[in-house]
Amino acid sequence: MDRGAVTSWAEQAKKLKFHTQAFIDGKWADAASGKTFDVINPATNKVLAKVAACDKEDVDRAVKAARKAFNSGVWSKRPPGERKAILSKLADLILEHQDELALTDTLDMGKPITLTTTGDIPGSSDTIRWYAEAIDKVYDEIAPAGHGNLAMIRREALGVIGCVVPWNYPFQMAVWKIAPALACGNSVILKPAEQSPLSALKLAELAAEAGIPAGVFNVLPGFGETAGELIGRHMDVDCVGFTGSTEVGKYFLRYSAESNMKQVWLECGGKSPNLIFADCDDLEAAADASAFGIWGNQGEVCSANSRLLVEESIKDKFIALLRERAKGFQPGDPLDPATNMGSIVEARQTEKIMSYIEKGKAIASLVEGGKRLTLNGSDNFVTPTIFDNVKNNMVIAQEEIFGPVLSVISFKTEEEAVKIANDTIYGLAASIWSNNLKRVHRLTDVIQAGTVSVNCVDAGGNTVPFGGFKQSGIGRDLSLHAFDKYTNLKTVWVKYG
Ligand code: NAD
Repeated sequence: MDRGAVTSWAEQAKKLKFHTQAFIDGKWADAASGKTFDVINPATNKVLAKVAACDKEDVDRAVKAARKAFNSGVWSKRPPGERKAILSKLADLILEHQDELALTDTLDMGKPITLTTTGDIPGSSDTIRWYAEAIDKVYDEIAPAGHGNLAMIRREALGVIGCVVPWNYPFQMAVWKIAPALACGNSVILKPAEQSPLSALKLAELAAEAGIPAGVFNVLPGFGETAGELIGRHMDVDCVGFTGSTEVGKYFLRYSAESNMKQVWLECGGKSPNLIFADCDDLEAAADASAFGIWGNQGEVCSANSRLLVEESIKDKFIALLRERAKGFQPGDPLDPATNMGSIVEARQTEKIMSYIEKGKAIASLVEGGKRLTLNGSDNFVTPTIFDNVKNNMVIAQEEIFGPVLSVISFKTEEEAVKIANDTIYGLAASIWSNNLKRVHRLTDVIQAGTVSVNCVDAGGNTVPFGGFKQSGIGRDLSLHAFDKYTNLKTVWVKYG
């Protein structure tokens, strides 16, 4: 452990000042009820801040402000070049405050500082810049309509968008929603997860500094069962962009059906298969990527490669390679730049993971890890875990554990591999490791997943859509396709001949 570097982050952490109020209509405000909730650093179990617990009055105020700003045109009708300049400034400000934002997310949910400084925060800045740049480069369409007719297909901003996001990439998941929604000209209400609201509040400060007008971007910290549901059921919210569990995603469909039929776009859970064929010519690279794919971010990744489907003839060899990698993935202090696995987000999630590990021990073979550790006074640390001899119908192969737990299932034939890979309610991501070109193409045709990575895991970026088949979701984040979620298509037909 590089003590100097740890101390330096710990010293910076002591100086950090968090926003603790909601941001509504360009102003900081306590919750109308005066209620707050504790935000806890899971790596120490110490309280970081007491944050406003928004409820009905706050949601109503935010929606009213968002609607007023939208109708005024202060953002929605602003020339594209001006919106682009403001969002580009926001991307710059995020980089300027990169250390503070990285530290905030690390303290808030326990992920390693190296991930937040190299991934979450600069990646979020890139995403905002990408959408800023797109604003004045995406054209509408003219449809074939015959002589004397002009048929235009125009995109219009929807209005008020509610964005409800999870804790596993607190800043980045928020940005994946708000960047395209704001780029299209909408007003936005962001509700971060109750486990990790602090970086979203900093985002409100930076957005205002960048020049996003009052009412256009509001942040409401609070609980899912209150602020989240109220956004989902609000009669004047036009659309909800949600990332979180499949269970809560379904609630949002119900809220919509029981209120104003608002559009609901869902990025939900996964149980992604990682298929390793014996004809893969670089098993070392496959093992490196597979280890990162399940143990990176403590396994708290929607597209984590949690089911390893490996050809029987190489199973033992591959598990041995993974066990070597597990040694390099031991949980550590998230503030240590050498740590590549931090703490689980909270005690409740740690208990949930441990209960799956207990269930797994009774039905499969635990070959690595499975331990809960105590570090710095917190027992929210779980070691990299591998279960062998898993059958795909077992609970540890079917349910999303959202922790560093790998289920290994062997197969004999390509057909069997496909059957197992698709035998899940989810369809977020899949990986295939093979050097057989024809096999790879046969498989990418039939694997049911929003992203299929070949000879890599969890590939993606701003330029390609991210989202799920089946119960992993509806709609796509990232790429120009995200604009489909936050705009309405209007046909305007002019007869002039
Ligand atoms: P969660 O579903 O518990 O919470 C997500 C958000 O919904 C939070 O803001 C929460 O406050 C809110 N919420 C909770 N209950 C609610 C309710 N009854 N009504 C309205 N809102 C409610 O998920 P989580 O535990 O924060 O995150 C983990 C889940 O997120 C995993 O299932 C993971 O797969 C998923 N996830 C998916 C993606 C993706 O892009 N597909 C990305 C990251 C995480």
